[in-house]
Amino acid sequence: MEINTKPVVQIALAIITAFGFAAFFNNAPTFPFALVTGAAPIGAYIAIGVLTLTTWLFAAYAKERVCLHMCPWPRFQAALLDRESLVVTYQKWRGEPRGKKRAELRPELNNFDALIREATSLDAGRGDCIDCQRCVNVCPTGIDIRDGLQMGCIGCGLCVDACDDVMTKIDRPIGLIRFDVEGSERAGSFKRAPVSFVRPKTLLYALLCLGALTAIIVGVLRMESVLVDIDPQRGQPFVQLSDGSVRNDFSFRLAHRLPELKEVTIHAEGLPGATLRFADAETGHEQVALLLAGDRRVSDRLLISTPPGQAPSGRANIRIVVSDPATGKTLGEVDTYFWGPAR
Ligand code: SF4
Ligand code: SF4
Repeated sequence: MEINTKPVVQIALAIITAFGFAAFFNNAPTFPFALVTGAAPIGAYIAIGVLTLTTWLFAAYAKERVCLHMCPWPRFQAALLDRESLVVTYQKWRGEPRGKKRAELRPELNNFDALIREATSLDAGRGDCIDCQRCVNVCPTGIDIRDGLQMGCIGCGLCVDACDDVMTKIDRPIGLIRFDVEGSERAGSFKRAPVSFVRPKTLLYALLCLGALTAIIVGVLRMESVLVDIDPQRGQPFVQLSDGSVRNDFSFRLAHRLPELKEVTIHAEGLPGATLRFADAETGHEQVALLLAGDRRVSDRLLISTPPGQAPSGRANIRIVVSDPATGKTLGEVDTYFWGPAR
């Protein structure tokens, strides 16, 4: 029994693509293990499932419909091109009038250097195009490049190869469909026009690319190694406990890319006598420690309390400081508020 391996390969590629996307938003080195052991976030499984399914459906069934109706690239491409751009061109000057091979060839086409551009008719003989339709049949987006460059052309060059095969078989020079500048098509020559790379549009694109590259390099160099995010939790701004102390709850998130960072300490400034604890701790302290144990991303509920009678009246500015106990270095500071009962 013959096994059709095509869908298996397609689905495998779709899974790899989806995994690559999901890994971008997770800790890539540990992500595969977390996925296999079920420790990855539920969103990662959903993202991989949805992306695998859509990638496979698009690649296996929608195919060129994606290029024609969904991909925004052809719209950009049309705006990026100019008269000197290297595109797939049908050399109309030598191809027309198209006709079956049994029709006689236009006499001037036997001179390869001919630049003769006289109007010809079927009576005077056919052009080099024998209207075999191979260029149309091989085109993944189903367009006829002989009608001129179209938005659906993805520049794959399959029509170029197909037509070159045909030209070789009928003993005509290759290049009836070729990568060329549109200007060359107008000139009508068997030789390709020289391409000028230095043009206003190419200079502009080079400048834009250089600007984008510079922005990326500067962004990466300035990127923080530790990101700390602390926000007051939704709901009531404070809780007054039975012993008279006042507590505010915060959501605490830390992400870092320092392999040597094993532990951080957190304390609050601007709130005399305040104690801190994470949700699962029984008692608070002036400074709390958080073990990272290899985790690059931690989130927890941070509870800050003031002793009885020492809560501010209304809103007070505080600063929460995250430090590395091994070096004493401050890793992050977040300015936020602490709320107490108005007096
Ligand atoms: S493959 Fe070449 S010869 Fe055949 S139809 Fe297309 S352009 Fe004409
Ligand atoms: S280059 Fe590719 S997409 Fe464009 S017309 Fe030729 S076969 Fe079609």
